[in-house]
Amino acid sequence: MADVEQPVVNSTIEIEDMITVGTLAERLSIPVTRLIGELMKNGIMATVNERIDFDTAEIIVEELKLGIGITRRKAEEETTARVKAVASATAASRPPVVAVMGHVDHGKTSLLDAIRSANVVKGEAGGITQHISAYQIIHNDRSITFLDTPGHEAFAAIREHGALLTDIVVIVVAADDGIKPQTIEAIRFARKAGVKIIVAANKIDKEGADVNRLKSQLGEYDLIWDGWKGGDTPVQEVSAKTKQGIPELLDMILLVTDVEDLKADTDIPARGLIIEAHVEQGRGPVAHALVEAGTLKPGDFIVAGSSYAKIRNLETTDGKPLKIATPSMPVAITGFKTLPEFGDEFSYVANEKLARAQTEAAANGKQAKGARGGVGSSELIRMINRNNEVQELNIIIKADVQGSLTSVIDSLKALDTAEVAVRIVSSGIGAVGENDLHLAQTSKAIVYGFNVDIPTSSKQQASRDKVVVRMYKVIYELIDDVKSGLSDLLRPEIKETEVGRLVVRGIFNTTKSAVICGGEVTKGKLVSPALARVLRGKEELGEVEITGLKRGPAEAKEVFEGEMCGLSFSTSHRIDLQDGDHIELFTREAIQRTL
Ligand code: GDP
Repeated sequence: MADVEQPVVNSTIEIEDMITVGTLAERLSIPVTRLIGELMKNGIMATVNERIDFDTAEIIVEELKLGIGITRRKAEEETTARVKAVASATAASRPPVVAVMGHVDHGKTSLLDAIRSANVVKGEAGGITQHISAYQIIHNDRSITFLDTPGHEAFAAIREHGALLTDIVVIVVAADDGIKPQTIEAIRFARKAGVKIIVAANKIDKEGADVNRLKSQLGEYDLIWDGWKGGDTPVQEVSAKTKQGIPELLDMILLVTDVEDLKADTDIPARGLIIEAHVEQGRGPVAHALVEAGTLKPGDFIVAGSSYAKIRNLETTDGKPLKIATPSMPVAITGFKTLPEFGDEFSYVANEKLARAQTEAAANGKQAKGARGGVGSSELIRMINRNNEVQELNIIIKADVQGSLTSVIDSLKALDTAEVAVRIVSSGIGAVGENDLHLAQTSKAIVYGFNVDIPTSSKQQASRDKVVVRMYKVIYELIDDVKSGLSDLLRPEIKETEVGRLVVRGIFNTTKSAVICGGEVTKGKLVSPALARVLRGKEELGEVEITGLKRGPAEAKEVFEGEMCGLSFSTSHRIDLQDGDHIELFTREAIQRTL
């Protein structure tokens, strides 16, 4: 039955419009696992570093019945807040950021090259020589930014970093081939990210291209062509080879942009995302970045993860100098002290001192995580929450006849759980061949052969390309193998075991991050170092780390039930310990589960 009772509010904390799960747990003085658990109960899968909005936080905090109320803090200047940017009333229009996705060999690369080359000034030396992370073109006097990172992984990575940087996804489908597994995946990605989809029906120059068939196939995935009644998905016929239809595709992108009304503030401190980083001889670290909001200039200081730069050269991604970079622009930046990482968010800082302080803090954070022996709590939670989405095992199946293929597929589908699932990238009848291995390599899939052969040439290719191929003649052995692969993807179970307990009988020193106290061991034994939680009655005041034990004046490794001892612990937030509080020591381990 729903609990309609209003919780008693004893205290109130202020939080921002958006707050990370970790920070909220800290402010509430509860273990982050408890908060994550409560979020899960409410159907929200959020990791420790993910942000939730105020409304969500309010509901969750109420449900936790901590006697704590929350109020909204007026937004401070917080450059790290990066949910889809909310622009102010005075924000300016910005170009759309477009990602191109689709099945392997359907023409993503060719299309991106065709769009780019149409815009490269004729006679320009070099033309297109190399793959770049993103580029901007001008069409009808308006700019469009293309992420030149074909492949779902890159897109997924960008999305994972919480950066909803893409506004439009162009899904490329070869009109002679129709919808394929990765097309479906692309549709799913785009839907999840909540971005507008435009379909490019590619290869229309080819015999066998059938756009009508494609349109009805798309309908099966709820992408109804806008030429049909009730439809809202634009489908543009193109040929990356002959360039037919490309101007119309660009028109369509601009049309969608107008409807979406994309805006960003230009007069705020710049921020964005690192989309590529490499070292160039003579220039040092070069980072490609996409500006999300604000304006960048040479000479500005920016921080990205544990690296910072005084921007020396600000250029387009193909090397033309820029005086300023505005929202949606992809830029190349030199001047970084160290190489930033793909997916790092960057933000403007006022001066070098701040830049250094921020990067040092970021680096220390990383180090602290790495240095701790065993699995620290934050590390563990990160592990558990590696990814809250369903973990998928990509596989390709080849079988001897349709009947056995169907039963293998059906048995594998039955293995799916809420946490892990088999994703069949491709399946077919016949020997394991070159195309299967090629697809396995690009989609990081395992190839399963059932009652089929693998020619020697494919064996060699597989070993050269490091593709895993497993051949079976007994169906349940194949299923067991996939099952064990899925088990490996399961998040570990976290087991906590109480080691001992102390009742506090005197507080000697308290700072924001450390406490020294004394007390009596009432249960089990105390050890150091160890994880512990501080309890006042039933209320948990926080999770801490025991850093030292003393029996009388002497350091001790262990203290047993009935003994008095001194104890020090470190804490990530101030704990005002009182006599009578309990400190409960426990161990926490990750246990691998099986399906
Ligand atoms: P991706 O794997 O999706 O990036 O596909 P690619 O761009 O590498 O294209 C795969 C193959 O299809 C290449 O051999 C291209 O030359 C060819 N291709 C791409 N677009 C077209 C097109 O519009 N017409 C024809 N005839 N071939 C195309």
